[in-house]
Amino acid sequence: MEFGERLIPKPKSRFLKVKCLECGNEQIIFGCASTHVKCLVCDKVLAQPCGSKAKIRTQIEKVLT
Ligand SMILES: [Zn+2]
Repeated sequence: MEFGERLIPKPKSRFLKVKCLECGNEQIIFGCASTHVKCLVCDKVLAQPCGSKAKIRTQIEKVLT
């Protein structure tokens, strides 16, 4: 068992479909982002780097494998 905040369950390379909580824009982001990922529409930060994985700061709609 791991203590989780809202980290991705498995630290593997994955793409995530996320939805911006600010404007509702949906976009695909990389699950291991090494830089901040921002919403393309409103510039809200959707994910931030956290060690080897990205910390997702918004709603995950779907995990794409
Ligand atoms: Zn947005």
